[in-house]
Amino acid sequence: MYHLISIQTEIIHDVNSCLEAIRMSYKQDLSPETLNAQALHHVDANTGAVSPGIHPSSTFVRDENYELINERHSYGRAENPGFEVAEKVLAKLEGGPAALLFSSGTAAAMAVVQSLRPGDRIVAPKIMYWGLRNWFVKYCDLWGLGLDLFDAADPDALAIIVKKGKTKLVWIETPCNPSWDIIDISSAADIAHQAGARLAVDSTVATPVLTQPIKHGADIVVHSATKYLNGHCDVVAGVVVTAREDEFWERVCELRTDNGAILGSLEAFLLQRGMRTLFLRIRKACESAMTIAKHFDGHAGVEAVIYPGLPSHPGHKLARQQMDGGFGGMLCLQVKGGAKAALRVVKRCKVFTRATSFGGVESLIEHRYSIEGEGSPVPKDWLRLSIGIEAVDDLIADLEQALG
Ligand code: PLP
Repeated sequence: MYHLISIQTEIIHDVNSCLEAIRMSYKQDLSPETLNAQALHHVDANTGAVSPGIHPSSTFVRDENYELINERHSYGRAENPGFEVAEKVLAKLEGGPAALLFSSGTAAAMAVVQSLRPGDRIVAPKIMYWGLRNWFVKYCDLWGLGLDLFDAADPDALAIIVKKGKTKLVWIETPCNPSWDIIDISSAADIAHQAGARLAVDSTVATPVLTQPIKHGADIVVHSATKYLNGHCDVVAGVVVTAREDEFWERVCELRTDNGAILGSLEAFLLQRGMRTLFLRIRKACESAMTIAKHFDGHAGVEAVIYPGLPSHPGHKLARQQMDGGFGGMLCLQVKGGAKAALRVVKRCKVFTRATSFGGVESLIEHRYSIEGEGSPVPKDWLRLSIGIEAVDDLIADLEQALG
């Protein structure tokens, strides 16, 4: 018996000294790429497991004095131990003190929007993720919120549209989906702050690999983690990262629980697993997107290539300053011959998958206007490409034969 206890004590001692050594090395100034690949050197304190666990439990036990065994966990709609690693990694990557996972990118955005008060005004780009823009247009009035839309391609438009004392949230996307307009985050932050508003940046397309909005002055960063963060088209998730833990942030946190917009524990695990390869996937997607953009720029079947990595793109100069390490994996082809010709190209693709969404390892092609429908500001001859991690020559050959 004594022998067993001493072995157990030794094991615990070993785990503790091992964890301490890991904590020490974590203190080193490691690059975000390393921290992300190693999930901040996470090791489970009870088991020594390198991979974060899945915790399906919807409720958490109390002791005989009715105290929670672990005060952070009471009920599954408020929290889940499986979120902790992913949230810490995302906060670290974005350079904020805290991050919160949600059941989708839309749920994440909603928590930010619903943290406003009736009478507050929102400013947002005319062309942005259509689902959220539609929400703004459909519901702002109903919720007592004012809405002002601006042209993201015009660098002066934001300053003109913001109303001092009334605008409380400036919502931007950069690059904007799917025009890939680039918005100057620092100047948007200055404009928002001078007006007494917060700046929220939907950084889904850029990812923290290419841009960290908080460094440029943003107050809130939002991602559809369904896209690049997860990267495998098998999870729907969202995240909000804050620049500071203030009263607004507290409301965002409360709203996740109060709205029930919680992520499943399996999804949290999949997201954390997918995130480990984020830097590799983004680098490959950027490299291939650039090769494809250059290849089809001036192509006989293509009117224009819309990609911020090309000098012809109006946001190219700003993208060079604001994006670090690439221009992203998203681009559009404006096909010669109008909507019919564009749809013909989609039909003939054999390697690209015909599907909406983006940010997965497999390349997707979509006719954006068909997805958004009547009233969409996206031209009918545009095709949106999400470049994955396949051999770029296969992707180019597929588009060549489809355009031919
Ligand atoms: N933000 C952007 C830029 C998007 O493209 C999307 C979805 O396509 C969203 C937010 C919404 O994310 P989700 O589909 O995870 O709700």
